[in-house]
Amino acid sequence: MTEAEWILTFDDGPLAADMVDATGLSDAELLTPLDQILETLATHPEGPIKAVFFVRGPAYPWPTPPPDSAFQKGIDRILDEGHFIGLHAYRHDPELWWNWLTRAPEITEDLDRCRAYFEPMVGADITVFRPPYGQGGIPAFDWAQENNVKYHLMDVDTEDWKHHPDGLNLLWENDPVGHLDYMLHFLPSKMWFHTLSPGANDILFHVSERTAGFLDRLIERVSEATRLLGHEPKYVVPSEYVRIS
Ligand SMILES: [Zn+2]
Repeated sequence: MTEAEWILTFDDGPLAADMVDATGLSDAELLTPLDQILETLATHPEGPIKAVFFVRGPAYPWPTPPPDSAFQKGIDRILDEGHFIGLHAYRHDPELWWNWLTRAPEITEDLDRCRAYFEPMVGADITVFRPPYGQGGIPAFDWAQENNVKYHLMDVDTEDWKHHPDGLNLLWENDPVGHLDYMLHFLPSKMWFHTLSPGANDILFHVSERTAGFLDRLIERVSEATRLLGHEPKYVVPSEYVRIS
C-alpha cells in the first residue's frame, strides 16, 4: 500500500479561536484547549504526530487583550513537544483580511507586528506563514516573498471553524454533535484528490475548545479515510513545508 502523507496544521493558537472573552481567565485556563490538543497529538494511536501551529496575536477579537505570558507559555509548550510555529496574524479581523484590495499597508503592518511579537518568544526566525480566512491576497503573498517566509493556504479544510465568533456564518454554533458529524462525513471526499497529488498535503484545524474535544476522532477519521482510499497514512512536517530552502 502506498503512503499518503498529511501535515496537520492548526490555525489561531496558542489561545482558543472560539474563546469569546479572555477577561479574568488565568494563563492555565487560557491554554487548556491547546494543552488538550498537544496531549492528543502526543498520545493518539496514529501518533505521536508533529504538527504546525500558525499563531495569532493578542488583538482582535478580544475586548481585553489576553496577557503576553499566556502566549509565551503556549509557544513554549508547542515547541517543547517538537511542533513548528508559523505566523498567522496579529489582528485576526475579517474586515481587514477580506478587504486586502484596499488595505495593503495595514496587512503589511499587521504581519510585521505579528512577526515582531512572536519571534522573540520562539527565539528564532519564523519561516512559514498562512493568512487568516485564506485572505490577505496579493499583499500577504508579497509580504511572505519579501520576508523569505513560506506561504501556505490549506489543502483540506476540515471546517472545524464553522462556529467561531468571527466566522462568516455560525452554521454549527449551537450544535457540536452536528458539527462533528458533518466534518466526519465530508472529510473523505475532501481528501481523495489529495491522496493522488504527490508529496505531503496539509489538513487545516484550529486551536479551539471544540476541536480539542473532537481531535482524536478527527485524526482517526483521516486515517480511516486514507486507508479506504487505498493508502497508508503518514503524518509528517517536511522541512520544505516550513522553510524556503
Ligand atoms: Zn485564523
